[in-house]
Order: sequence, then C-alpha cells, then structure tokens
Amino acid sequence: MEALFLANFAQEVFVIHRREKLKADVVMQEKLFANEKIKFIWNSGISRIFGTKSVEGIALKTAASDDETILPINGVFIAVGTLPETEFVSDLIDLDAEGYIIAPETKTSCKGIFAAGDVVSGSLKQAIFAAGQGALMSRHIEEYLGAR
Ligand SMILES: Cc1cc2nc3c(=O)[nH]c(=O)nc-3n(C[C@H](O)[C@H](O)[C@H](O)COP(=O)(O)OP(=O)(O)OC[C@H]3O[C@@H](n4cnc5c(N)ncnc54)[C@H](O)[C@@H]3O)c2cc1C
Repeated sequence: MEALFLANFAQEVFVIHRREKLKADVVMQEKLFANEKIKFIWNSGISRIFGTKSVEGIALKTAASDDETILPINGVFIAVGTLPETEFVSDLIDLDAEGYIIAPETKTSCKGIFAAGDVVSGSLKQAIFAAGQGALMSRHIEEYLGAR
C-alpha cells in the first residue's frame, strides 16, 4: 500500500522484502506488480543507509551472505508493519496478543468503552471499514447512553 502511494510521487520505488513473496492480499499484489515504477528486491534487508546531506544510497544484504550490494537512491521510507497505540487502555479492556483491541461489533470487554477502526483486532485496515465501524459504534454509544 505504501509503495503504491509513493509511486505517485517517485520516479522509481524499490520494495525491499526479507522474504521471497508478499503476504498482502492478492488484489493489492496485482496492483503492485502491474505498476511499472515499482521494483522488488527479494530476500534482502537494509544493512546501511548512507549519504552526506541527504540519503544517497543503501547497502543491502541477504540472509545467505554477508556481502553488501549498493543501491543508489534518494530516499528511504520504512514500512515494516504497525503497532497499535493501546498501552493506555491495557488495564481497562482486553487486547489481543499483538495489542489490538478485542471489540466484536465495536463493544470492548468493558461496558461503556467502544472501539472502531484499525486499532480493533481483526480490522481490514481500510478506510471504509473504519468508517463503517465508526457508524456502528455511534449507534451503540447512543443505545448505551439512552439506557442509563
Ligand atoms: C499509506 C497508506 C495508504 C492507505 N490507503 C488506503 C486506501 O487507498 N484505501 C483504504 O480504504 N484505506 C487505506 N489506508 C488505510 C486507512 O488509512 C486506514 O484504514 C484508516 O485511516 C483507519 O482509520 P482509523 O480512524 O481507524 O485510524 P487513523 O486514520 O490512523 O486515525 C487514528 C488517529 O488517532 C490518533 N491517535 C493515535 N494515538 C492517539 C492517542 N494516544 N491519543 C489521541 N490520538 C491518538 C492518530 O494520530 C490518528 O489521527 C491506507 C493507509 C496507509 C498508511
């Protein structure tokens, strides 16, 4: 998703991935592979980012070898996953093993606390899903307050 976004502005986008295939959904993968600006470097990780005043390149390593390959580039965008900011509610409501809020139909384990969007366990991480959950959540809040 991030690579597609960056391809709107950059001449070339290199996706450096430590495995030999992506885990993203197939539709998203098809979009990525169809974009001529996006190139993949598989089984690799960044060992160094270098440059004087700004980024001039990166050094890449594979798991199989200590040899570095240099790739001249102008910028690095690190997208290695997301972390939910849920620490502040961890004493109040149930979270899953990765820290996402468990909230079936937006209802958390604590009555009166609701959750919607990317922060919810099992979220599709799409704007339309977050907005839909927001609408459902507002209905539940209304019901909760109306019953008090
Ligand atoms: C690069 C990129 C491209 C995307 N493209 C698409 C797309 O094409 N289509 C699509 O459907 N979805 C897309 N998404 C996903 C979409 O952006 C999210 O699913 C959606 O924004 C989730 O909405 P949300 O309200 O749950 O979370 P967010 O939009 O992340 O909003 C959460 C807000 O809470 C704030 N916040 C965090 N912690 C705290 C705190 N402790 N106190 C107060 N505020 C806090 C954050 O600053 C943020 O403003 C994209 C995401 C990314 C990163």
